[in-house]
Amino acid sequence: MSTITNHMPTAELQAIDAAHHMHPFSTNEDLAKEGVRVITRAKGVYLTDSEGEEILDAMAGLWCVNIGYGRDELAEVAARQMRELPYYNTFFKTTHVPALALANKLAELAPGDLNHVFFAGGGSEANDTNIRMVRTYWAEKGKPEKNVIISRHNAYHGSTVGSASLGGMAGMHAQGGIPIPNIHHINQPNWWAEGGDMTPEEFGLARARELEEAILELGEDRVAAFIAEPVQGAGGVIVAPDTYWPEIQRICDKYEILLIADEVICGFGRTGNWFGSQTVGIRPHIMTIAKGLSSGYAPIGGSIVCDEVAGVIGNCEFNHGYTYSGHPVAAAVALENLRILEEEKVIDHVRNVAAPYLKEKWEALVDHPLVGEARIVGMMGSIALTPEKETRAKFASEPGTIGLITRERCFANNLVMRHVGDRMIISPPLIITRDEIDEMFVRIRKSLDEAHAEIL
Ligand code: PLP
Repeated sequence: MSTITNHMPTAELQAIDAAHHMHPFSTNEDLAKEGVRVITRAKGVYLTDSEGEEILDAMAGLWCVNIGYGRDELAEVAARQMRELPYYNTFFKTTHVPALALANKLAELAPGDLNHVFFAGGGSEANDTNIRMVRTYWAEKGKPEKNVIISRHNAYHGSTVGSASLGGMAGMHAQGGIPIPNIHHINQPNWWAEGGDMTPEEFGLARARELEEAILELGEDRVAAFIAEPVQGAGGVIVAPDTYWPEIQRICDKYEILLIADEVICGFGRTGNWFGSQTVGIRPHIMTIAKGLSSGYAPIGGSIVCDEVAGVIGNCEFNHGYTYSGHPVAAAVALENLRILEEEKVIDHVRNVAAPYLKEKWEALVDHPLVGEARIVGMMGSIALTPEKETRAKFASEPGTIGLITRERCFANNLVMRHVGDRMIISPPLIITRDEIDEMFVRIRKSLDEAHAEIL
């Protein structure tokens, strides 16, 4: 068998990829258009491709490489753990040190009485755990009919059948027979696109009260939980108006609804605190974690669960678990990642240096003719592209066309920025420096100018 390596010509690697590799969320036609970009290595905030181009990764991979690329410490921990104990499970009355030590650390970092961790391979699996856990919780409490989970349209909670059902992505619901029963969706707090004549504050309250309306409509005794991201990420970095979260918390408390905060993107420093729940001031019963937990160096996720829910689940046999729940190598890597986040004071860097500087430059983008609103929380930001700022107008073209053109300009300028419809989003590694932020904005502004010139 011939060995395929980084050193082969790009066209050959692309041809092998096209012949055999199926890509998530892609069509063959799109992949073939310019040929896929082959990423060969990465360091800090920069990727290198097979042509030797240096690309500034303003998305931290898929919102996950919080400590930046190329940290040898994680590679060393992984190698050590693989030699010592490459695998064992945590089923059937066994455990191992990486899993128990990581659970211990997460209990220390998580707010309130979120003291217990159920591990998974990533965020989707963790959200599947959450579906089964909250339903089992209420069944064990003698309320099996309390099994409806309320989520939001345009939410992303993963790609498995369960987690994609929790999500509210129309394109995903159009395929594969989802959502599963007893998942209900309310509207998102996206004031720019959907706020009409309301002020952001009025709109935030109105959208939060849709939760109360849904509970009353479905019946209080039927609703098990509400799930949401503190800041909606893949939906387009939708930052809720200030009135939204206090009202959601009030409603969950009033009707005894479990609150699940999906912290897969927001967790581990992205919003300027360890968890996005702290940033928006909510008290979840369960937090979904993944991505920044290991900075993407190893696949691992989980649910951090409060004392009450974990107590009830622990008293029944919860018939649920994954072969790789708490995988020792992934857990050891995650622990090392948390050590780096903590000892190198990465979240202080976000709060005191990177996020304030990024915010100043990000919000100034509204001076660009294509940019309507610019929203940012910590290290996740979005801009809405618009043909007319005053009326928050949409483009006449198919939604997403201008976003795609802009993303392609970014790509050509060696900048990874993503588009969601006609919103452009960033989520760079948390360790990004001021100089790197300056460089990022040179590329962002150039890309916006070029996109603007292209559509004029
Ligand atoms: N939840 C949120 C908020 C996410 O953004 C994602 C992935 O982007 C997931 C869940 C799914 O995580 P994974 O891709 O690790 O399964």
